[in-house]
Amino acid sequence: MFKISKGWNCVTYLGDNLLMAENPTSSGEIRTEAVERHYRMGEATICAVDGITLNVAAGAFVALLGSSGSGKSSLLNLIAGLDRPTAGAVIVDGRNLAGMTGEELSRYRRLRVGMVFQAFNLISSMTLLENVELPMRFAEVARGERTERARASLERVGLGGRLTHHPSQLSGGEQQRAAIARALANRPSLLLADEPTGNLDSHTGGEILDLLHESNRQFGMTVVMVTHEHALAEQYAQRLVFLSDGKVVAERQNVPRGSIPNSAGL
Ligand code: ADP
Ligand code: MG
Repeated sequence: MFKISKGWNCVTYLGDNLLMAENPTSSGEIRTEAVERHYRMGEATICAVDGITLNVAAGAFVALLGSSGSGKSSLLNLIAGLDRPTAGAVIVDGRNLAGMTGEELSRYRRLRVGMVFQAFNLISSMTLLENVELPMRFAEVARGERTERARASLERVGLGGRLTHHPSQLSGGEQQRAAIARALANRPSLLLADEPTGNLDSHTGGEILDLLHESNRQFGMTVVMVTHEHALAEQYAQRLVFLSDGKVVAERQNVPRGSIPNSAGL
């Protein structure tokens, strides 16, 4: 059995695929406070994120919507710790990412954040098993354990029969499922997805969203998903946040169709 608790620090391997996280304070709550990200382009300054204050409860499933260029990816990258804000704060479980050292931020990314991208971003020269093991190598998980966890993770997303395939030998949907397995490898408390269905047909996109939804429900991880697709957002997210010109212009609660809102109450 594969049991993953919320939390990201001090994961204990108890044998036989039984895992327990020991840090009850790592729940995946996100707050941004008047966060800004400006890009300098010669003389011009682009305010890609222009004063966004947002609260995402631990365990919530939130969709970020907005037209191209509205700042969705820039905001997601700030939450992921891939980028630093020009001003304001990004606070995850009470810690401001803007105040972290480079080393702390890379530890945060490694252990607490799982990311999924539109273009899958698997490493083409590696097998699926190696791709999924990679974040665990960076997290210094022992070899035997990481192979076992990678295998279990790929089985969970229905790719148990593709362990030694390379990404180019798989369909887009299969590649994205492998990317989700990789994102989940270190049991992050945040799963951040940037247009995860952007390169997939709608049926396959639905399957991918089912997986994100299942991770949210089963492991209680917070999911923030950027998408263009209203219908998908309405089907899966508990809250829709609309961006325009780097600002939040509307927000609304949503009852995901066919699923029960979870206890985060968002
Ligand atoms: P979205 O994901 O909603 O399409 P982005 O966050 O990618 O939007 O971009 C928001 C704005 O910031 C756009 O105008 C984009 O051109 C600009 N931008 C994004 N990344 C950079 C960058 N690295 N350098 C300069 N401008 C950027
Ligand atoms: Mg984008």
